[in-house]
Amino acid sequence: MTSLTPNSAKHKQARALKPGAIRPAKELCSECGLCDTYYIHYVKEACAFLNQQVAKLEQQAHGRSRNLDNPDDCYFGVNQKMTAARKIKPIEGAQWTGIVSTIAIEMLNSGKVEGVVCVQNTKEDRFAPMPIIARTPEEILAARVNKPTLSPNLSVLEQVEKSGMKRLLVIGVGCQIQALRTVEQQLGLEKLYVLGTPCVDNVTRAGLQKFLETTSHSPETVVHYEFMQDFRVHFKHEDGSIEKVPFFGLNTKELKDVFAPSCMSCFDYVNSLADLVVGYMGAPFGWQWVVVRNNKGLEMLDMVQNQLETQPVTSKGDRKQAVQQSIPAYDQGVTLPMWAAKMMGVVIEKIGPKGLEYARFSIDSHFTRNYLYVKRNHPEKLEAHVPDYAKRIVEQYKLPDS
Ligand code: FAD
Ligand code: SF4
Repeated sequence: MTSLTPNSAKHKQARALKPGAIRPAKELCSECGLCDTYYIHYVKEACAFLNQQVAKLEQQAHGRSRNLDNPDDCYFGVNQKMTAARKIKPIEGAQWTGIVSTIAIEMLNSGKVEGVVCVQNTKEDRFAPMPIIARTPEEILAARVNKPTLSPNLSVLEQVEKSGMKRLLVIGVGCQIQALRTVEQQLGLEKLYVLGTPCVDNVTRAGLQKFLETTSHSPETVVHYEFMQDFRVHFKHEDGSIEKVPFFGLNTKELKDVFAPSCMSCFDYVNSLADLVVGYMGAPFGWQWVVVRNNKGLEMLDMVQNQLETQPVTSKGDRKQAVQQSIPAYDQGVTLPMWAAKMMGVVIEKIGPKGLEYARFSIDSHFTRNYLYVKRNHPEKLEAHVPDYAKRIVEQYKLPDS
């Protein structure tokens, strides 16, 4: 890798480009933001959709790549520890209980980092992402809650080098973090911490509008939503009310094209390259799922341990039949009538997979769907783009022939 200084000719040339002018991954671009900076020169190597290199970067970030013969490693990535946790005093307005924002604030207050890359929303639109480098707890708090749209978090990377900052925390999703790991050595940092969230089924701002309008009874008042472990989408509205729509009642025909092509071809649901991952899918309902991948991850979790209740992760049920049945249903765009969808949701919630088995259900369903998507739309990429762990996971199921 060649080094790029702020005054190099390539840098000046890159600065002359308008943000968004070049997207080498074309329709697969997830708008991670790298190409809005002079680090675009690393795009062929760094872009998650042009160069899948999870195993190599796991080795670089965690000291080893995942062991495919260890089922937890294969599914959830390199990990030292997994736990279920929630804040004793949740942060009002956070996506879950606010563990991510709390860690970021503690890292800043303790002086372990000088800035935090996170994403606020624009003044005009609560869902339009506005990445920033936060330097105060207030700025971090203002970035709480998911912006459920593709977000160019890495577009602020040039500011890091220019600011002279030496210790940085970056919060982001898998595709952003793969690109970040590739250019990490070029940022002039002494220390980089990476706090990730899982991510799946993201959308453009226009796609989000279509999803809300197709699925919610009051799209304009939705403040946040989540695909929950009870097999329903929970929409929270401005007045605090929660609307629940069963997964099986979603209008799959209408929604088939809503998810971004990048997310339909992504196999890094669990954010393999972050030091610490905070999601929900492997935890009981109401709790967050925390995966510590390396010592930096442990250091970050330790900063907030006294603010958390924790319990061990558990696993119950058998996902395999439900995943196998969902493959042709999704493929053929089957939509159940709402009464049947509700009934199915109730039954599956009672007897269906829980805890880590729910997380495996979600990973299997998305990886099989995405494998078919890449096979059909980008067959030439299939072999190199699908990581070995994802091939192992997909091989457990019978897929349609074409
Ligand atoms: P908060 O304290 O509310 O902080 C949220 C943080 O997320 C903020 O720091 C903000 O900077 C960052 N953020 C917001 N939007 C984006 C974005 N678009 N890109 C990058 N960073 C962003 N978890 C699962 O277990 N399964 C899933 O399928 C899943 N899908 C997700 C999809 C998206 C698009 C995102 C952003 C997250 C997803 N998560 C998923 C993670 C989960 O929803 C919560 O974000 C996580 O548990 C942290 O909750 P919190 O209350 O601690 O976060
Ligand atoms: Fe560039 Fe990121 Fe899009 Fe890849 S995903 S083309 S690195 S902006």
